[in-house]
Amino acid sequence: MELCQLTIHQAHELLKSREISSVELTKASLERISQVEEKVHAFVSISSPSISQAEASDEMIRKGEITLLTGIPVAIKDNMCTQGVRTTCSSRMLESFVPPYNATVVERLISAGMVMVGKTNMDEFAMGSSTENSAFSPTYNPWDVGRVPGGSSGGSASAVAVDEVIYALGSDTGGSIRQPAGFCSVVGLKPTYGRVSRYGLIAFASSLDQIGPLTKDVTDCAIVLNVIAGHDPRDATSVPYPVPDYTQSLLHNADTIPDLKGLRIGVPREYFVAGIQSGVDEVIRTAIGKLAELGAEVDWDVSLPHTSYALSVYYIIAPSEASANLARYDGVKYGFSYQEAGSMWDALEKTRQFGFGPEVKRRIMLGTYALSAGYYDAYYLKAQKVRTLIRREFDEAFSGSTTKKRFDALVTPTSPTVPFELGEKMDDPLQMYLSDVCTLPISIAGVPAISIPAGFVNGLPVGMQIIGKPFSEETLLRIAYAYEQATEWHKMRPLI
Ligand code: GLN
Repeated sequence: MELCQLTIHQAHELLKSREISSVELTKASLERISQVEEKVHAFVSISSPSISQAEASDEMIRKGEITLLTGIPVAIKDNMCTQGVRTTCSSRMLESFVPPYNATVVERLISAGMVMVGKTNMDEFAMGSSTENSAFSPTYNPWDVGRVPGGSSGGSASAVAVDEVIYALGSDTGGSIRQPAGFCSVVGLKPTYGRVSRYGLIAFASSLDQIGPLTKDVTDCAIVLNVIAGHDPRDATSVPYPVPDYTQSLLHNADTIPDLKGLRIGVPREYFVAGIQSGVDEVIRTAIGKLAELGAEVDWDVSLPHTSYALSVYYIIAPSEASANLARYDGVKYGFSYQEAGSMWDALEKTRQFGFGPEVKRRIMLGTYALSAGYYDAYYLKAQKVRTLIRREFDEAFSGSTTKKRFDALVTPTSPTVPFELGEKMDDPLQMYLSDVCTLPISIAGVPAISIPAGFVNGLPVGMQIIGKPFSEETLLRIAYAYEQATEWHKMRPLI
């Protein structure tokens, strides 16, 4: 096995026993990038200080100061602020923005001894499902470079899948960690809203945005979550709950496969209708059958009827919040500024005209419209009310207070289809938006969900989404881990 193919926990063992050094590991990662980056375009920038960070990590390891992430190469989505390292959000607007501070998640990874090899490509301002909305270049799916890697964290998912880095961070507003994880056959977790600080994450839709890991297996996902989760006084939405050791729920005796006895899993039928590709349906049903074999009690007849409103609700609330968040890009404070304008208003208009791409403009217009006088009650307020109904429906499924059906988790496909072709949905925003039908309701409810590799259809990856009640990441990881131990999907690598 090549060094760049290692998982975090495998690399950690070798670093700890001093069989390899962080410099060797980082060089392997950079070498892999030089081989495949031209084919996948996962990065916006590669950071030059990575070798000196690796040397510093080796020094720490020599002194016996080692955490599970010390010396391990990571890629960070380009919407998280990195002090002194350009952070573009894949937008012309921030093309030369160099943040003066680190996001809290970045600070935490630095304290754990990370080696950052680069910043990954994304849909501009995280708006999109294919990474084609990047102002710089699309990212390509390593399983088939004619297809999209998903989005908006497509660069992070692709970089992990193709072994350019050992793990990555992404952000998820309506599916942007889970959908690309599914499309690239890696593990991606969107934590509960409030579990991970978003301080220093460039805001898209503040009531939905969450940061989470993209990793090669479930154990790595738990390791990264341990480091990034927890209260942060600089993010008022982060919750002061204690952080459990997420790796604890994964321990099992070496000669047994962990089981799922005592867990109740529901399969909501609304996620298996309209638009789902037949191969995807089959793969997920087979995977759920596996969960039953592992001892889970599976109820195939669950209904979450408000699911069908989630897309409409999301595409009112997210653009509304985005239109407010993106008002700050005025060419005065920071970011791109159009210099040849005749007047202040002209400068403002031209800054936004040239700084933002078409999808971002579409969202700003949708949001401004939904929030404007006379339409606010009809759109934004109504969407907020339906959001409450969607959230209650999930609460009900996890508490069983009225139907007596109480579930520890719900399982669905992550996406209704396998990765689609580049360009296939670019002229049809509604089709693009529909690729997130399975992930949006979860974001609206603020609950956690993980996507794990569950199989392939004609050589293209399919992800299974496991959804839980707020702060039940341990249960999700336990289910995901048991499934992973019983299957081989996570071991498959794209041939590129
Ligand atoms: N694809 C969805 C959108 O375009 C979700 C994006 C995200 O989660 N950042 O808004």
